[in-house]
Amino acid sequence: MKTVFKNAKVILQNRVLYGGIRVEGSRITEVFESGAEPEGDRVIDCNNLYLSPGFIDLHVHGGGGADFMDGTKESVETVLHTHARHGTTSMLPTTLSSSKEKVAQALLTIEQVQRSWTSGPRILGAHVEGNFFSPVQAGAQDPEYIFPPTKENTKRILTGVSNIRRISCAPEVEHALAFAREMSGKGILMSAAHTDASYDEMEQGAENGFSHMTHLFNGCSIVHSPNYYCRAGAAESALVLDNMAVELIADGRHVPKELLKLVYRMKGAERINLCTDAMCAADMPEGEYKLGALDVVIQDKVAVLKDGTSFAGSICTGDRAVRTMYQNAEVPIYEAVKMMTATPAKLIRVYEELGSITVGKYADLNLFDEEVRIRYTMINGEEYQNNL
Ligand SMILES: [Zn+2]
Repeated sequence: MKTVFKNAKVILQNRVLYGGIRVEGSRITEVFESGAEPEGDRVIDCNNLYLSPGFIDLHVHGGGGADFMDGTKESVETVLHTHARHGTTSMLPTTLSSSKEKVAQALLTIEQVQRSWTSGPRILGAHVEGNFFSPVQAGAQDPEYIFPPTKENTKRILTGVSNIRRISCAPEVEHALAFAREMSGKGILMSAAHTDASYDEMEQGAENGFSHMTHLFNGCSIVHSPNYYCRAGAAESALVLDNMAVELIADGRHVPKELLKLVYRMKGAERINLCTDAMCAADMPEGEYKLGALDVVIQDKVAVLKDGTSFAGSICTGDRAVRTMYQNAEVPIYEAVKMMTATPAKLIRVYEELGSITVGKYADLNLFDEEVRIRYTMINGEEYQNNL
């Protein structure tokens, strides 16, 4: 079966091409300019919509009322499909700080669903966020379950699963550097997260395998002036360390647009990935929810702890993240898309197969309008949703 998409604004790596693509089986087999349409068994007139690669979210906890920590296959499927409806065709299901048994169970379930995949949104592996954080920067991670990544503490969580692609951990806590050396040596992306690190500690982290920072400006120290002297926090340190990429929760609330612009100017789209960090209430009505054992209120398009002390994850979706960077931070559309496709794909080493509209890659695709409203999604060459 050959499907031809024509009359699209095709989002390529560094430009937008007016034309289309051809898909055969599960792969993209041709990219063409307008006027050079090839034959196809099925032709989709995109009517000037944007055609982009499917979005890739490296940091997502839940959505549609379910959380990956529920530890059931049904919950995993609910979250996957909730985000796929908003254009995210691949993701790293992400755990939260909880008991070792609960984290281990969640990881096991995620891996089982990943192994039994035949169609629909893809799990590319798991992201372990927690439990290895600075207690001062716990944010919405349950402080009861925060402990350092010693051999004894990591054994129960990491044994028996083989699909971990990313670990978020504070680089300054006990045993973190040895842990980062070991895990990065296995090809796992090590992200500095929920950290109170100084510049020196971040630099040491970077020398020992931390190559990324989790939700920059959220759950980390920022510039401060103890005894008159100005000190960089973990956030500015990650910005200035050339070998560190950074992640932004691009819901337009966690980080204001002026800081989104600043980060974009400093790091560029090649070293920023957008994520949702979404919790169970993504794509759900306002009201009261749970994040682990903590009470959360959804109001005004954000999730906050009921006691008002912190954000509690987000209710963002992939389309909203791209829209925020495109409209609020005013970056070109192909750059906004790159941060939700090519850059995350490169960070977890799946760029050979996913993350751009390139001949030979899997046909994971979205069609969306100027407001980044998803109108059509294809995953693995199969139509997933069609609202054209
Ligand atoms: Zn977090």
